[in-house]
Amino acid sequence: MAEYKTKEQKAKFYNSSQWKKLREDIKKRDSYECQECKRQGRVAIDKNEYSEKAKRKKIALVVHHIKELEQYPELATDKDNLETVCVNCHNKEHGRYLHGFNNKKVNKWAHDERW
Ligand SMILES: [Zn+2]
Ligand SMILES: [Zn+2]
Repeated sequence: MAEYKTKEQKAKFYNSSQWKKLREDIKKRDSYECQECKRQGRVAIDKNEYSEKAKRKKIALVVHHIKELEQYPELATDKDNLETVCVNCHNKEHGRYLHGFNNKKVNKWAHDERW
């Protein structure tokens, strides 16, 4: 089974054409909306200010592994384990136990999955 423990292994995965394609499939499936914001009823569409398209463009979306790649390599490409979230929610997702003192880790993640 493939392992994604080292930075190199992860980089290889996130750079693969398989992931790039899958990532787009997931975003499309999730209508290019942050699923976490949606759960919290925060997909407030401000039609006055932005068109739907412009609004979506403004938000950087990340395809997130619900169960972490490192711990669950077998779920790396499982669509049920993937969801579209915005960068804000993604940082929270990975940094919810950190209180701002370990930004490095959070940033690293935001980056990894955005590739
Ligand atoms: Zn969000
Ligand atoms: Zn993530």
